[in-house]
Amino acid sequence: MEATIKLEQSHTSGVYPKREVAIVRGLGARVWDEEGREYIDCVGGHGVAIVGHCNPAVVRAICEQAQRLITCPEVFYNDVRARYMECLIQVAPEGFQRVYLCNSGAESVEAALKFARLSTGRPGIIAAMRGFHGRTMGALSATWEPKYREPFMPLVPGFSHVPYNNIEAMEQALDENTAAVLLEVVQGEGGVNPADGDYLLSVRDLCDRVGALLIIDEVQTGFGRTGKLFAVEHYNLRADLLCLAKGIAGGVPMGATLIGERVQNLESGLHGSTFGGNALASAAALAALDFLLAHDLPGEAARKGAWAMERLRAINARIIREVRGMGLMIGIDLRKRVTPYLKALMDEGVLALPAGSTVLRLLPPLVITDEELSIVCDAIERVLTA
Ligand SMILES: *Cc1c(COP(=O)(O)O)cnc(C)c1O
Repeated sequence: MEATIKLEQSHTSGVYPKREVAIVRGLGARVWDEEGREYIDCVGGHGVAIVGHCNPAVVRAICEQAQRLITCPEVFYNDVRARYMECLIQVAPEGFQRVYLCNSGAESVEAALKFARLSTGRPGIIAAMRGFHGRTMGALSATWEPKYREPFMPLVPGFSHVPYNNIEAMEQALDENTAAVLLEVVQGEGGVNPADGDYLLSVRDLCDRVGALLIIDEVQTGFGRTGKLFAVEHYNLRADLLCLAKGIAGGVPMGATLIGERVQNLESGLHGSTFGGNALASAAALAALDFLLAHDLPGEAARKGAWAMERLRAINARIIREVRGMGLMIGIDLRKRVTPYLKALMDEGVLALPAGSTVLRLLPPLVITDEELSIVCDAIERVLTA
């Protein structure tokens, strides 16, 4: 393990805060380090490993597709991409008939921002304080966290931020220059903050009133994470553009932007991506979606998440300010900085991640077993009451 860490340290860009462990293998909700030590993985590749690490159905699809065709740009038609688009649209919330495929969450947000400006002919984008939408220049302009933004000024003009869950502030900000409002249903990076359903539905009405589009970023909440296939389904919220990535393809890099009926003027040549919709990613995504539906992983996330949150709320520790979340997207807000507790949990064989400086966040694979989840909660209790 030392050798791997040393080798990587001497060449890595330096932009990542790294943990002193080399992960080399995974299966389901477990991963192993180079010395063979086992961990229950509630980082899940930052919420990517929804169907579990090395899900056998995804592995099989990747192997088969890799022997047939790996790359095929979208200027050609492709059998597996066509089938994936059909399946995704079939399960998508009502009103989506088209999809733009890309390679990451930030790219899915970039596409939504560009499509919104194109469609409305307006420049303005309103996002929320504590929102996170990715790190490319456009997506970063919508991301709120000053320490991510400030080193890269000037960002894209036309973006503004309003307090989340505050409908008056949104009403004041929206006007005839607004192309779109961009929101998460549950803010992930920003601290696991669920939106009020009434707030989201009122934002929808306000958008309609001024002719702005509503972009919902489900990069983290999508594909069952919150207990529904898409988090907008909790509220029957109608979005005009829906951004997806993370767990979409069982761990293979992929993103998608679902495009609603009101989005116009998408003409050929206006946007694109070399790898977008490539055959290998499409095959993995098709297998991941099949598995997700066949095993009712959204239902599993709802059941397991409710159980885990009840268990965590019963922990008697002054350090816990609040336990909040939706499905298997769980945040434990602490009265202290979270980093030492993540380290202590790792020593207990549990990997978890932060959200902001004080929130301990869990994004386990939705296939995590009840027993594994129980071990995780026990470990958290030990660490927070020590
Ligand atoms: C992770 C995330 C992104 C960015 O995705 P990348 O694949 O890292 O570019 C965007 N929006 C949300 C809500 C995310 O959680």
